[in-house]
Amino acid sequence: MSHLNVNIPYSDNYEPGTWRGLQMPDGQRSALITCSRGHTGILINHTISDDGGVSPSVACSERGCDFHEWVTLEGWVGAEGKG
Ligand SMILES: [Zn+2]
Repeated sequence: MSHLNVNIPYSDNYEPGTWRGLQMPDGQRSALITCSRGHTGILINHTISDDGGVSPSVACSERGCDFHEWVTLEGWVGAEGKG
C-alpha cells in the first residue's frame, strides 16, 4: 500500500493538516504536526530535510486514527525562529 506525499502548511493554530515549529531541549529544530483529523503530535525519531521533507512517513499516534502519510513541511526553510 502506498501513501501520497502531502505538503502541509505552517499554522500557529493547530488546524488539521498543519505544522508548527518546535525547539527541542537539545537545540534541534523539530515540528508539531496536526493530522487531518485534528490530533497534534511531536515529530520524534524523524529527519527533516532542508526542503521540509520528513522521513520516515508520519503516522498519527492517536488510538484509532489511521492518518499515515509522507509529508513535506511547507515553509520549513525560512521558518527559523518560528515555534
Ligand atoms: Zn490523528
